Amino acid sequence: MENLLRRILLYLSVAGWARSIMSRWGVARRVALRFVAGETLDEAVSATKALNARNLLASLDYLGESVKRAEDTQEVVKTYRDLLKRIHDEGLKAGISLKLTHFGLDISEDLCQTNLRHVLTDAKQFGIPVTIDMENTPYTDITLKIYRTMRDEYNFDNVGTVIQAYLRRSEADMQALGAEGAHIRLCKGAYLESPEHAFPDKPDVDANYVKIMHNFLQTAGYLCIATHDEKMIAAAANEIKTLKPTRYEFQMLYGIRSARQDELAAAGYPVRVYVPFGAAWYPYFMRRLAERPANVWFFVRSLFRR
Ligand SMILES: Cc1cc2nc3c(=O)[nH]c(=O)nc-3n(C[C@H](O)[C@H](O)[C@H](O)COP(=O)(O)OP(=O)(O)OC[C@H]3O[C@@H](n4cnc5c(N)ncnc54)[C@H](O)[C@@H]3O)c2cc1C
Repeated sequence: MENLLRRILLYLSVAGWARSIMSRWGVARRVALRFVAGETLDEAVSATKALNARNLLASLDYLGESVKRAEDTQEVVKTYRDLLKRIHDEGLKAGISLKLTHFGLDISEDLCQTNLRHVLTDAKQFGIPVTIDMENTPYTDITLKIYRTMRDEYNFDNVGTVIQAYLRRSEADMQALGAEGAHIRLCKGAYLESPEHAFPDKPDVDANYVKIMHNFLQTAGYLCIATHDEKMIAAAANEIKTLKPTRYEFQMLYGIRSARQDELAAAGYPVRVYVPFGAAWYPYFMRRLAERPANVWFFVRSLFRR
């Protein structure tokens, strides 16, 4: 039942008709803003200041994906460049996260790379870390390829990408990336995938997460342990107890398990919060609903509140 609900919500996350209904619905917007720092850059900067004051790092994500018109990517690049300048000028402890389909990957790889270079040039100049998010499996190979190209071209340790533990291929990908000393965020994976590509059962995903985390920590790579799952956090704490904190950090999403974020920071772990902002919150919000049935009931209850 839970799996079916997850699949329905993930289907709706990419359905254009559902997006246009939900995006215009005030109640949905209000509930979505529980997981999103706001719609403007100023709101994202304020949220980051509040996180930094709690000894938490941030990674700011300007929401958007699957952009289909080249001219629309110019505004994306501009917003990220403005964001990098704000992070630098205001001394925020923050990096950025971005999606390649937001930078025009569905239009052309060249356009996407050109757009990315504008942002990476500024990020390198300011020394601000950049993570290339991982989207669904049609984009896995190309994302890894563009990540490696940019990392090598910019000779910039602070460019990283993401590996999803639900994918069957991830163990091999992590092994290769570890040997390259890569900067990797390990998450479970948030998209609708076929059993051919992804483990359909949660216990298999969890076991793979622990296994590839363990293997990666034997390499020279930098690991971002991105999860809200107490079992994964405990396994990670056990793995990293003899490692220097320059080799890893914990990561969680904005608005999810905030008290646990504070506890981990108070225990001396580096903790980074992924801070999404912008008007294109719909697919991100639906993926958060799909992750946890309690979030769906929270949404349904909100419909009946004034
Ligand atoms: C920083 C960050 C970046 C990410 N980037 C990507 C990406 O680039 N690509 C991608 O595919 N996915 C990404 N994800 C999403 C990720 O793949 C998962 O979908 C998401 O994190 C849920 O998995 P989980 O590890 O938290 O565990 P789940 O298996 O979803 O949850 C396990 C347990 O965690 C606890 N939990 C979860 N949510 C809550 C909550 N709201 N309150 C209390 N307890 C809770 C519960 O005990 C739950 O049973 C990212 C996640 C994070 C944290």
